[in-house]
Amino acid sequence: HADGAMYHAKAAGRNNYQFFTQKMNLAAAQHFELESSLRGALALGQFEPHFQPIIDITTRRVHTMEVLLRWRRPSQGLVMPDSFIPLLEENGLIVPIGEWVMRRACEQSMEWLRMGLEPVPLAVNLSPRQFMHRGLVESIQRILDETGIDPSMIEFEITETALMQHGEHTMEILGRINAMGIRLSIDDFGTGYSSLAYLKRFPVKKIKIDRAFIKELEESAEDRAIVAAIIALSDSLQLSVVAEGVETEGQYALLRAQGCQYAQGYLFSQPVPRVNAQNLLERRAAA
Ligand code: C2E
Ligand code: MG
Ligand code: MG
Ligand code: MG
Repeated sequence: HADGAMYHAKAAGRNNYQFFTQKMNLAAAQHFELESSLRGALALGQFEPHFQPIIDITTRRVHTMEVLLRWRRPSQGLVMPDSFIPLLEENGLIVPIGEWVMRRACEQSMEWLRMGLEPVPLAVNLSPRQFMHRGLVESIQRILDETGIDPSMIEFEITETALMQHGEHTMEILGRINAMGIRLSIDDFGTGYSSLAYLKRFPVKKIKIDRAFIKELEESAEDRAIVAAIIALSDSLQLSVVAEGVETEGQYALLRAQGCQYAQGYLFSQPVPRVNAQNLLERRAAA
């Protein structure tokens, strides 16, 4: 009996070990597969920009469109950025792909202009890794020249954490981008590692309050106090302020009463493909 039990334990141990290595191999294989698919995705035309409106809180009209990247992966459908952007940042592919997003945004803006739609500024997300790429400013300039877009119709969204990294270098790049006439905003404000001093030092024009503070706005007096403080701070620094992740009429009403200027969230629209975004702009013109 004792021998039998021993035998079973050993066998189970060996099986667990095999199971564990199989799982590790599977994870590594999946990671490798994801990475090699991502390497080909740009050339295969699998990326597409989606658009989510940022609305003017008093008129509820579309004010800006944020460009949000999607990956149409064969046999997997639409893949959301949180499951591939971190990998693109890690392997540097965010540099060519980020450049592609910017170019697509500018081309789209020009197409809508040619269609006679009222101009709408487009907001493009920039990741920290893109700032480390020496050619960033030159590639932006090239895209502006080639598409002929008015730089005031483009905005870059940068997170606090990105702003705080590599301080002086980032500062110089932002100064050059700002000098080109492109506006800068701080994304996910209030969640990153940051210092309020940079609001004065960096040439930013807009703050986007992270949706973590909006989510329980109706239930939480603390969140209401934080949001009110961010709005007051933005006002006194003459910055525009956007509330992210607005999902309910109650949140909208509170933000409006607090004097928030702009809002974005599922209450108004989810991020949508180009054609649907175009419909939103056509409806805006009709309203
Ligand atoms: P973000 O720039 O903070 O974008 C806002 C995210 O919140 C989007 O997720 C949007 O779909 C989502 N969202 C908007 N309204 C609501 C709402 O009412 N409720 C909830 N629960 N969510 C809402 P998405 O599209 O999955 O993008 C995630 C993040 O991926 C973005 O966060 C941005 O950091 C990054 N990202 C997306 N596109 C690009 C890109 O082209 N370049 C770079 N570098 N990053 C990108
Ligand atoms: Mg953003
Ligand atoms: Mg955000
Ligand atoms: Mg975010």
